[in-house]
Amino acid sequence: MGFGVDQFLRRQLPGRCAFCLGEADRDRPWCGACFASLPWNLPACPHCAEPLPGRPEARPCGRCLRQPPPFVRSRVPLRYELEVAGLMQRFKFAASPRAGAVLLALFEAGLPGAALSWPQALVPVPLHPRRARERGFDQGEWLARRLACRLALPLVRARRRRDTPTQRGLDRDERRRNLSGAFVIEAALPPRVALVDDVMTTGATLEALAEACRSAGAREVEAWAVARTPLQ
Ligand SMILES: [Zn+2]
Ligand SMILES: [Zn+2]
Repeated sequence: MGFGVDQFLRRQLPGRCAFCLGEADRDRPWCGACFASLPWNLPACPHCAEPLPGRPEARPCGRCLRQPPPFVRSRVPLRYELEVAGLMQRFKFAASPRAGAVLLALFEAGLPGAALSWPQALVPVPLHPRRARERGFDQGEWLARRLACRLALPLVRARRRRDTPTQRGLDRDERRRNLSGAFVIEAALPPRVALVDDVMTTGATLEALAEACRSAGAREVEAWAVARTPLQ
């Protein structure tokens, strides 16, 4: 599959590097120097994408060794910091389509081609209803819809069963309990499904959504997000 700029991206990304505003590489929304200096999430835990700087290679983190998440792997190419955090904030809070297009292009450029051809359907993480009311822009759905189109995959939506209480201040197990059964998927899913979110934090929401996918017939679930926050 690999990275290619389609008409949609071409319209959003006219010739300038999204980071330094210098001249961009041909068919890329960035220059080579900025691209190389981005906070790539390497190495990271293959299961939960927790950044593991200083490790010689990607190995499961201690938490995933004790209790593996319900997805086979996580693919989160960037860390949520520096230029990536700035871009994400413009995308989320200013609903900037250019920022969204750059993030989407970075996600695709940051994954091996084989990874992009693995899933048979994409499931976006539904926005929390309270946040949807406040902001009126669902950035996870925005990314997933365009990615599904580019990869020629069906997009299957999950529904939130109830307005779950806030996750703030809870540890991983409490978050998991808090969210268990929070999502339902009414369609029958193919065996291989990738969840799509913009930022992966603790992964508790993705874990609850993965459970719903398994109940709807998926055998293997991957968690995809553009950027990963380190654990607090
Ligand atoms: Zn640049
Ligand atoms: Zn892990």
